[in-house]
Amino acid sequence: MTDPILDDIAFLTALRRDLHAHPELGFEETRTSDIVAKLLEEAGITIHRGLGGTGVVGTLQIGNGTRTIGLRADMDALAMPEMADRPYKSKFAGKMHACGHDGHTTLLLGAARALAKSRNFSGTVHFIFQPAEEGRGGAKRMVEEGLFNLFPCDAVYGLHNMPGLDPDEIAVVEGPQLASSDSWRVTFRGTGTHGAKPHLGKDPVTAAATFIASLQTIIGRVVDPLQPAVVSACSLQAGDPKALNVIPDIVEIGGTARAYTPHVRDQLEQEIGRLAQGTAMMYGIAAEYDFIRRIPPVVNNADATARALRAAQDVFGSKVRTSFPPSTAGDDFAFFAGEAPGCYVWLGNGPAVDGALHHNTAYDFNDDAIEHGVRFWTRLVEQELSGDHDAIA
Ligand SMILES: [Zn+2]
Ligand SMILES: [Zn+2]
Repeated sequence: MTDPILDDIAFLTALRRDLHAHPELGFEETRTSDIVAKLLEEAGITIHRGLGGTGVVGTLQIGNGTRTIGLRADMDALAMPEMADRPYKSKFAGKMHACGHDGHTTLLLGAARALAKSRNFSGTVHFIFQPAEEGRGGAKRMVEEGLFNLFPCDAVYGLHNMPGLDPDEIAVVEGPQLASSDSWRVTFRGTGTHGAKPHLGKDPVTAAATFIASLQTIIGRVVDPLQPAVVSACSLQAGDPKALNVIPDIVEIGGTARAYTPHVRDQLEQEIGRLAQGTAMMYGIAAEYDFIRRIPPVVNNADATARALRAAQDVFGSKVRTSFPPSTAGDDFAFFAGEAPGCYVWLGNGPAVDGALHHNTAYDFNDDAIEHGVRFWTRLVEQELSGDHDAIA
């Protein structure tokens, strides 16, 4: 008997390299999504286009199983030049697949093609090809435009390549995987006055200094010491270096906040605001506070992780890691995992060639990982939608 996945590797490798040579930035993935849509349709899979602009959802329903799952691949590249020489180097100046999303798209297409052929499950799988993962809000837009109303899911899965793990190795870990990435702004509003007569005004500069000096007490005194968190003030605007005898009316401060759990994220939002308002009150001035939630943390659900782990152990045998350090980066897969129990796994990409890691001008997805990634997605669907849902308690 032939192995449909093995038979498809040459095609998928050529496809991956073609995608690599034609990188497209977030919400501009027209060529890529045309290829995705065409290949899904050719495999006999129903497609839905237009969610998030260039997003594509392929739906494959087999048998009468009622369980439905979603698998996510991101399609976008980064606005940066490719510096390494390779036969399939980016044809577009200043655009590059430096995060391996060309590989993610290929793996999910490979699984869709294999599953459409083998039809070895009972239920519904949605292949979700999202635009604009790299900070442009593709996942959020797909959700806002009704992804889960149109395609409800009982669980949703994401995968990212990871240098440092072997291409036949995978990490499937319960709990936090990627940090939240949020921004905050504080404006202290006093009454400007002559620098020699501070008693005639209300000085926002001294208030700002007190606020910044107190900021790290949030991590040290409020957040659980066993929970990682970061608060940084990264921007400070006040007065004029050419007017050193003027106390200004306003000081503007901005920064970032990172957390790995929704609870700590809420704490950071509340506490930065409380500190700003409390400091303003102490100095008799006003404070305005804005916390901008950008990307939630990716936290793997226990049940979805157990299901992913079972498929991983089947495909990768002993080369499954169940502990792996979380990344301080973010992934907007978090918006999908906010709508259904989610699990995000790390597929090995081999050693970092010449030290090139994600977002490096020499980075490349490792084609040796294609077969393993396709087998993982395929096995996950076959087990998840086996009709034997109670197998995992
Ligand atoms: Zn990236
Ligand atoms: Zn990425």
